[in-house]
Amino acid sequence: MRQTGKIQQFLETKYYAQGIRVRLPVLVCKGKGSGPFGLIMSSQHGRELNGIAAIEKVWRAISPEKIKGRIVFLPVMNPVAVMMRKQDFPIEEPRFRPTGVSQLLYNMNRKWPPQKKDGTYAQAVTEVVWNTYWKHADFSLDLHGWTDRSLSLAWGMKKQLKLLRDYGFPYHMVTQKSPETPGLSETAAYNAGIAHLVNELTPQNRIRLEIVNQAATCIFNLLKATGMMAGELVRPAVQYEFNQQHQQIEARTPVEGLLIPAVNLGDFVQKGQLIARVVSLENLKTAWEFRAPKEALVFNLGGGGWGEDKGDSNIVYPGSLVCLLKVPDTILKNPQ
Ligand SMILES: [Zn+2]
Repeated sequence: MRQTGKIQQFLETKYYAQGIRVRLPVLVCKGKGSGPFGLIMSSQHGRELNGIAAIEKVWRAISPEKIKGRIVFLPVMNPVAVMMRKQDFPIEEPRFRPTGVSQLLYNMNRKWPPQKKDGTYAQAVTEVVWNTYWKHADFSLDLHGWTDRSLSLAWGMKKQLKLLRDYGFPYHMVTQKSPETPGLSETAAYNAGIAHLVNELTPQNRIRLEIVNQAATCIFNLLKATGMMAGELVRPAVQYEFNQQHQQIEARTPVEGLLIPAVNLGDFVQKGQLIARVVSLENLKTAWEFRAPKEALVFNLGGGGWGEDKGDSNIVYPGSLVCLLKVPDTILKNPQ
């Protein structure tokens, strides 16, 4: 298959695991000239859908005649979990409820690179993806999605700082030390010497057009930055950059009530600015308020609870995380 073109095919797992053999959709764009091999994947976790839509947008727009090298898109890494509307197959509950099962057992993004078989479907997927494509790649991108109580975030190693900046996401973190968590995509890529970025795209479960368009723009930036495609980078006017050890300011309420924010996620707030109040449900008086102790980016509003046991609600109790501010280490300004 030497010809230029857009090729749709499938990649099948090699054996039954948990009763399943699955085939993953593979979209290959073979460019005209020689160039790098890039792997772009999404939805290792079933609630994380915006990466699929971003890849769909890129796939419709991409022209092999304008590409040097080869790009493989794996938009639906975990088809069974996606169709179940859950993070993991067969159960996601260990992530937020004691079940007696390790929350890592079924988590696909703890199984890179595949080593010994553990009998899970997730491991059968990582094994065939790693051996067929990823270990041969020059660079890779892994698209995820967390809840929209936080901002979206991209990250990569300091070695890839230029690539991370060129990727052009408005919020990114530079990781200085080698990743320590075994089985993460970034750990596997680091150990294999593959340039790798991760991007969390909010929200879960639903498509947000703005974030899909942003991620698609970033994917094209990645192709430009790696020399696969000609053209100017398209970056936002401001990019907030965080080092791994950046300052974070957590606010937890000492009282219960209704959390009413005074700002929006992504606002860059000033010292002393009102961020959020907790209002008493008995008399509607402000029982507690939180003001920014310094200039910072509003990164989270409403806490980090996740899963059906935690409740997605602005009703808060003493000790609830209500806000996370991040202090950027660098603010990049891009001419528009
Ligand atoms: Zn994920």
